Amino acid sequence: MRILILGAGPAGISVAEHLRTLQPDADQQADITMISAEPFPPYSPPAMAEHFLHGRGAALYWKGTDICERLQVDYRAGTEVRAVDPAAKRVTLADDTSLAFDELVIATGSRLYAPIDGYDLPGVYNFKSLTAAQELIAHARDGEVKSAVVVGAGFIGVEVALLLADLGLDVTMVEQQDRVMPGMLDAETAEIVGQALAERGVRVRTGTQAAAFAGNGRADALVLEPGEVIKGDAYVAATGVRPNLEFLTGAGLDTGWGLRVDDRLCTNIPCIRAAGDAVETRDRMTGERFVHAIFPNAVAQARVVAEQLLGYDTRYEGAESMNSLRHLGIPVIAVGSQAGETELKIRTGRHLRKINLTEGRIVGFRLAGDIRGAGVYRSLMLRRVDVSRYGDALLEPGFGSARLAGAVFSRAA
Ligand SMILES: Cc1cc2nc3c(=O)[nH]c(=O)nc-3n(C[C@H](O)[C@H](O)[C@H](O)COP(=O)(O)OP(=O)(O)OC[C@H]3O[C@@H](n4cnc5c(N)ncnc54)[C@H](O)[C@@H]3O)c2cc1C
Repeated sequence: MRILILGAGPAGISVAEHLRTLQPDADQQADITMISAEPFPPYSPPAMAEHFLHGRGAALYWKGTDICERLQVDYRAGTEVRAVDPAAKRVTLADDTSLAFDELVIATGSRLYAPIDGYDLPGVYNFKSLTAAQELIAHARDGEVKSAVVVGAGFIGVEVALLLADLGLDVTMVEQQDRVMPGMLDAETAEIVGQALAERGVRVRTGTQAAAFAGNGRADALVLEPGEVIKGDAYVAATGVRPNLEFLTGAGLDTGWGLRVDDRLCTNIPCIRAAGDAVETRDRMTGERFVHAIFPNAVAQARVVAEQLLGYDTRYEGAESMNSLRHLGIPVIAVGSQAGETELKIRTGRHLRKINLTEGRIVGFRLAGDIRGAGVYRSLMLRRVDVSRYGDALLEPGFGSARLAGAVFSRAA
């Protein structure tokens, strides 16, 4: 069987790795070819900041730079897919050659989505990939760029602003909504994150709409909605992501914002499966279908795809919504819904624990300063355990202790 994996991000490489783990016997193994448009070994985007700051290649190349040799995967870096012909079972590459497959896995991830005029001007950077980020980092290091304006305070924008501040840049971040990370953080947790950003030297302007990157051939200003102009040596767009699916035009695959798949992660064409940021999946808690562009979802989906390819009828349990901030100086984690019918809360300064409940069950939580208990809360939430009897005791960081968690789980079972 010839399996062709498009993309070598966390989803693509995890499919290959699970396939080999499930089929360790060399004479039974499928032929695996994996391609990536980028010229690097498979890497982990969340580790880019560590890599740029501390040169930690081990974190970036999370599976090792020789992973494809070890897995006996025919890896073709710097190879871009341009079209898929499901009937002929072939893909066409940018150099006009083609590759045949019996089974195809689409794991092409996502790229910057920037609905702002001038986003494609030279001088506007993004951190959606190693290729995209490298040039700005090089300019920051050689002193050519001393200040940056970051548009968008989602989790990628926040991570990028912290990285640039750590590299010594003067950083301004603008966000159209009234708080940082509005998709994941309630106002109170966002305020804690905003304060920590300010202490790290990042100037945050919320409620500020960017209208356009402006400049003659190169961006030299960010124009805001009422006409104010902000200047920096460099501009970063961190306004969102959109799936890389252009090469599927005319292929007959069912796509919305992302590629549509069922709970087996199969597309509407039986020999084509998909995983990661390219895919719309069902939210495990709410049942809504959308692109859940985070690392753990990509890896969990890859496992299902690999099992399906080898004939196991595994179903995907659904995607999770969660974010954590690792470089802020204080730990912050946000999981599930921002609000429920009721809220349990305790706050001392920057230590905040907030749990949202609906019908006695956890539907989301936010922890800042001390994130102990996050694993237990998440598990209770996913298992839909009725926790109403615990009241405020749920907020204790020690609620995660083995004894109490054991009691909760055995009662729930
Ligand atoms: C700066 C940054 C920080 C992040 N931090 C976190 C975090 O802390 N926690 C978290 O959970 N998530 C984080 N994420 C999100 C996480 O990285 C993604 O959800 C994850 O990488 C998705 O994996 P993927 O394999 O689907 O896609 P990607 O990682 O985007 O990989 C896509 C692959 O497809 C290839 N490709 C694309 N188009 C083509 C084409 N036409 N032909 C051939 N190959 C193609 C690319 O070269 C790449 O190899 C972060 C992302 C970024 C950018």
